[in-house]
Amino acid sequence: MDPISPLEQALHAARALVLADLVAGQVAEADVVSLVEDAVVRRRWWVEQWPDGAPFVAGLVAQDVQDALLERYGRWPLCPVCGSGDPHALDVEPELGPDPHWVCSAAGVKVAPVGSLGAATGGGPS
Ligand SMILES: [Zn+2]
Repeated sequence: MDPISPLEQALHAARALVLADLVAGQVAEADVVSLVEDAVVRRRWWVEQWPDGAPFVAGLVAQDVQDALLERYGRWPLCPVCGSGDPHALDVEPELGPDPHWVCSAAGVKVAPVGSLGAATGGGPS
């Protein structure tokens, strides 16, 4: 009688996708998970004001968590594509749009969809 709203579905999906990428990067510790929860809470408010933004929530939560990790832990996720040079983080593209991907702006390549970073880093170049 009380079906899960599209907004809740988008928020659940965003949470699951970002957590999957944190697990892939082996940074899904308890306090990191709470950063995801904080980001989801903020974006719940945001998407309630602008329901049409529901498809954008995953990319936004990923960027929120990335920013929060930068302050506390450092760059995340590190680029798995570039073998040399300074370690650098991947960016989310589009910053505000559906179907977000992790991209390396240095190499100009799409690395993986948000939520699928494990597949991109698990069997990386040897
Ligand atoms: Zn790179």
